Amino acid sequence: MFRAFIHLIYPNVCAGCGSVIPGDDSVICVRCWANLPRTYQCKDKNNRTVKLFWGRINVEHAFTSFVYTKGGIVQHMIHELKYRGNTEVGVELGVELAKEIRKIEMPVDIVIPVPLHPKKEKIRGYNQSLFIAEGISNYLGCEVDDKSLKRTVHTESQTRKGKYERWENVNKIFKLSNLDKLEGKHVLLVDDVITTGATIEDCFIALSEVKDIKISVVALASSVL
Ligand SMILES: [Zn+2]
Repeated sequence: MFRAFIHLIYPNVCAGCGSVIPGDDSVICVRCWANLPRTYQCKDKNNRTVKLFWGRINVEHAFTSFVYTKGGIVQHMIHELKYRGNTEVGVELGVELAKEIRKIEMPVDIVIPVPLHPKKEKIRGYNQSLFIAEGISNYLGCEVDDKSLKRTVHTESQTRKGKYERWENVNKIFKLSNLDKLEGKHVLLVDDVITTGATIEDCFIALSEVKDIKISVVALASSVL
């Protein structure tokens, strides 16, 4: 009865369309679940996310699960996750990523959310990618590691820099620790939205210091597809 009362004051609102959802099993309504635009990229080894990294970094697997359109439900959900404290939608969509990971039998030992700059994380209160990573971890039973890879300094967009400068700059952006722990592991880098892929590239280069590491990349959506 107490839950029903709370529900009356704070109704469970869909993170996709804003409609009130009866019950609190999900923060996404039945209609939005049915209408979620999917990329079906995971089974395609030459999908657009993989191609984005061609000639840049050598990822084992890479895919995004949902189609990002301006004003669409995916954009709305990601906005809820990033700016409105709706971390549960990140967890639920993370589980959807995990289902695709299992479908292609992709081995994952450790899930690493793309780190936010500490200052940005302090303002937001959380790293949205950590909740997506937790959804993946809940479903697959693998570990989430948000300690080994850290972002150190706040930098402007990396895209305008040359390749050599980028390498130089990378060491200053991401700091890697626990190299022994990651040795020989298949690491899954998780982000909310992939735009240019520059941040993923920087994380990849930092992680490449680890001996015999394998790195895959997933994100909820890509804003350039
Ligand atoms: Zn909805």
